[in-house]
Amino acid sequence: MLSGGTAHILHRDSRDLHTLTAFDLQSLPVRLTRDVGRYATGTVLAELMLRVAPAEPHPEGFLVLRDALRRLEEAEAPALEAVALERVWALVSALGFAPAVDRCVRDGRPLLPGEELAWSVSEGGALCDRCARGTEVTVLPPEGGAALRRLVRIEEGPLPRFDPKHAAAHRRLVARYVRHHLGEGAPLAALDFWQQRAWAPA
Ligand SMILES: [Zn+2]
Repeated sequence: MLSGGTAHILHRDSRDLHTLTAFDLQSLPVRLTRDVGRYATGTVLAELMLRVAPAEPHPEGFLVLRDALRRLEEAEAPALEAVALERVWALVSALGFAPAVDRCVRDGRPLLPGEELAWSVSEGGALCDRCARGTEVTVLPPEGGAALRRLVRIEEGPLPRFDPKHAAAHRRLVARYVRHHLGEGAPLAALDFWQQRAWAPA
């Protein structure tokens, strides 16, 4: 699981199943096993690829996944939560489900940094004041909105550092988004495990 390499497949037109004749291992991200959080994030990314990527080759998704596993191996422990969140959003975006964060998802009105951000899971992103009225939204305070802008890479700069409470809020945000837009109702066991930090004491 999570290792990279070249598969040699004997392709048979007449069958749905083909024969794997060899697998040349090129990367084995053993440092993901340094702690459960790293590995759990890696399995979320793999689950997304398996569940969402089309059957055809998807080089962009593959490159984002490969890069993410390397970053998760290398991240210093205090930065891990933010790196994990950024990489999950990066794969979500690469798979074609980028959220709207800097403009209203409904009417395109620009949303300014430094303000509260009204977030709608079902609409697929942020809403302006006018559209947020009468719609179910989660309101992020200015610093939460700024963190989200950075995580989805609308803005550059150093990644935010999250305390456990804010990390949990951001995990919940992206997990709800994934379930709504990518999950199609199917259970996402790795995502559940990661979102709840099921390995950590409550
Ligand atoms: Zn609007």
